[in-house]
Amino acid sequence: MKIPDKIKIGGLIYTVMETENITLGMNYNAEILYGSLRINLRSMAKGQKERTFLHEVIHGIYDNLGYINHDEKKIDELASALYALIIDNPDMFCDELRVGEDAKE
Ligand SMILES: [Zn+2]
Repeated sequence: MKIPDKIKIGGLIYTVMETENITLGMNYNAEILYGSLRINLRSMAKGQKERTFLHEVIHGIYDNLGYINHDEKKIDELASALYALIIDNPDMFCDELRVGEDAKE
């Protein structure tokens, strides 16, 4: 899995940054800032970072759907399930026709 520099969630483009400057504080490995469209991730092991990235993406999806209070346990469970789905089925996300279309952009 490749963590992109930018990700579009519900039409909004978030910039993804690896940084030790997490505004939530030292107890957090990552955060999503809806106002400034940023996802900040601390440096960590590859798999942990990918799963944490998906956790923040799911927060972004929930926010886009209008959910104010996010259940951290459910978001973690969804992130783990989605991570496993992506890792276990890599070909599902690689459509040759679509890759060709993206290359033209
Ligand atoms: Zn969270």
